[in-house]
Amino acid sequence: MENKKELRSWLNNFGLEHPLVIGGPCSAETEEQVLKIAHQLKDSDATVLRAGIWKPRTRPGNFEGVGALGLKWLKRAKEETGMMIATEVANANHVKLALEHDVDVLWIGARTTVSPFIVQEIADALKGTDKIVLVKNPVNPDLPLWLGAIERLYAADIKNLGVIHRGFSTYEKTRYRNNPNWQIPIELQNRFPDLPLICDPSHIAGRRDIIFDICQTALDLNFDGLMVETHYDPDNAWSDAKQQITPDTLIQMMDDLKIRKSTDTEAEYRNALNTLRTQIDVVDHQLIETLGKRMKIADEVGLLKKEKNVAILQSKRWNEILGKMILEGEENNLSEEFVLRVFKAIHQESINHQKKIINA
Ligand code: PEP
Ligand code: MN
Repeated sequence: MENKKELRSWLNNFGLEHPLVIGGPCSAETEEQVLKIAHQLKDSDATVLRAGIWKPRTRPGNFEGVGALGLKWLKRAKEETGMMIATEVANANHVKLALEHDVDVLWIGARTTVSPFIVQEIADALKGTDKIVLVKNPVNPDLPLWLGAIERLYAADIKNLGVIHRGFSTYEKTRYRNNPNWQIPIELQNRFPDLPLICDPSHIAGRRDIIFDICQTALDLNFDGLMVETHYDPDNAWSDAKQQITPDTLIQMMDDLKIRKSTDTEAEYRNALNTLRTQIDVVDHQLIETLGKRMKIADEVGLLKKEKNVAILQSKRWNEILGKMILEGEENNLSEEFVLRVFKAIHQESINHQKKIINA
């Protein structure tokens, strides 16, 4: 297997470390705030300073960013600290202004990636640029939409392209603000192995306490970088206060994360094995969640049966399910014997659940 790091050459071209670390506030608030955070991050692993200046808020009335004025603050932070600077662009005018102010990394936000019209407008405005351009996944879990945006940017001859995984919105409440659906970035990585893949744990988590674990999973899945929202006074940040961490916490976190650096063949083998194991962990986690959901539905069936005084075991229905699952199992390369064993166990658990409900 070719060494991914060689393929991911633009990180080297810019003299950037692997993994790339981008830190900085959700939003630029004041010049002092931007400069203070930049100086706190200056000697850390974060080599790129982020700050949003045009903020796409879900509902109007919230802080919508300081606008173009913030570009001057970012430029000053770059001059004072030597960090590269990054901001979100959401239309052709943002691109023009960002390029004029020497922004090094321009990212396309999740609410923009959903719109091929706007992505095309941005791609046209960026045509041929040698700046780094990062495309966040669309808010909805739609891989083709994400791929489409990447293809539009490639077609505009943007060479230093990368992607950011920031999770996907769901109607259901989960422990995440945006569900990671790790299988989607994994699939993207399989299709574009040389496209740097960066994780944004802040927007996945929506809260501070699980950021570390999300970062570790991303690194174990062979991601190439992290973008972490960082503020010296997270609780009083003007946007996304719950998910920001302090520069000191980021520095400590980078120290504590297990980062695989070495490149000898033994280490390559262990890395590949680790990546696959993490993929298995992700799928196992989904299996358990799915089984939990199935049992919740079984509980509701139990309630209905109780109301109507119907027997728990209904053999006809059960045989139909088994028949269908054996066929689907075949299509998925699973033996009949295995499907039977799994579904007998699932069925037994459903019956146990329903018994509990009926006897309650
Ligand atoms: C952000 O990075 O602050 C942001 C608005 O992100 P997203 O587009 O992922 O919601
Ligand atoms: Mn944010």
